Amino acid sequence: MAKIFCIANQKGGVGKTTTAVNLAAGLAKLGQRVLLVDLDPQGNATMGSGINKSDLDVSVYQVLLGMGDLRSAVHNSETGHYDVLPSNRDLAGAEVEMVELDQRELRLKQALASVFDHYDFVLIDCPPALSMLTLNGLCAAHGVIIPMQCEYYALEGLSDLVNTIKIVHAKMNPDLKVIGLLRVMFDPRMMLSQQVSSQLEKHFGDKVFKTIIPRNVRLAEAPSYGIPGVIFDSAAKGAQAYTAFGKELLDRIAVL
Ligand code: ATP
Ligand code: MG
Repeated sequence: MAKIFCIANQKGGVGKTTTAVNLAAGLAKLGQRVLLVDLDPQGNATMGSGINKSDLDVSVYQVLLGMGDLRSAVHNSETGHYDVLPSNRDLAGAEVEMVELDQRELRLKQALASVFDHYDFVLIDCPPALSMLTLNGLCAAHGVIIPMQCEYYALEGLSDLVNTIKIVHAKMNPDLKVIGLLRVMFDPRMMLSQQVSSQLEKHFGDKVFKTIIPRNVRLAEAPSYGIPGVIFDSAAKGAQAYTAFGKELLDRIAVL
C-alpha cells in the first residue's frame, strides 16, 4: 500500500517541484515504485520528468473532473524511472469547475484509490497556494513534506500552512501529519541561513529533516533537459543531498 505525501508550501519558488521530482527519482533509484502527481497548472514537475505538457490527451485535470481514467493519464518518466500523473494549464480551470461537484476536496483521494497497491510512494507536487487543488492533495495524503528556504520571511507563511494542515487533520483527513520540514537552497555562507536554520530546529525539533539541500546550479539546470537532478549529474552536491534525503525519509517512515 502506497504512502502518499504532499510536497506543499504556499510560498512560490521555494523548491517544491525540485524536491518532488528529485525525491521521486531518488526513491526510484532506491528500488521504490513511485507515482508523482503534478497538481500544479504550471506543469513544472511534468516537464522536469521529461514529459511534454503540451502533448497530453488525458491529464490530472480530466481525472479530477471525472472525465478521464487515472490509469490512462499516467505516463512513465523514462529519465527518472517513476510514473507521472501529468498536468498542464487545463488544470487552472479546475478550481472553478469543481465548485459544482459534491465532495470536491476528495476527488484526488478517490482517483488514487485505484492505484494504491501499484506503488510504494505517491508524491504530490502542490501549487503555490492554499487552494482547492492543494486541499485535494492534503485530503489524499498521509503526510506533508514542507520545503523551506532559510530566510527571514520563510517562517511567516509556515504558520498558515501548519494551521491549514491542522484543520484538514481535524475535519477532513485524520491520517494527515507533518512528516517534516526540509531545508532547501541552503547557502552556508549566509549568516541568516544559519540563524533561521537553527531557529527551525529549536521550534520544530525532530520535525526538521537532518538532510540539508544546498543551493546547487546543477539542480536548476536539470529541468531544462527533462531529467531529474539526481540522474542528470548524480555526483553534484545537490543530487547527493536529495539521494540522502530519500534514504532519510525511508528511515523516518519506518518508525512512524
Ligand atoms: P512554484 O511555487 O512556482 O511551484 P516551487 O516551490 O515548485 O515553485 P521550484 O520550481 O522547485 O520551486 O524552484 C524554484 C527555482 O529554484 C527553480 O528555478 C529551481 O530550478 C531553483 N531551485 C530549486 N532548488 C534549488 C537548489 N537547491 N539549488 C539551486 N536552484 C534551485
Ligand atoms: Mg512548483
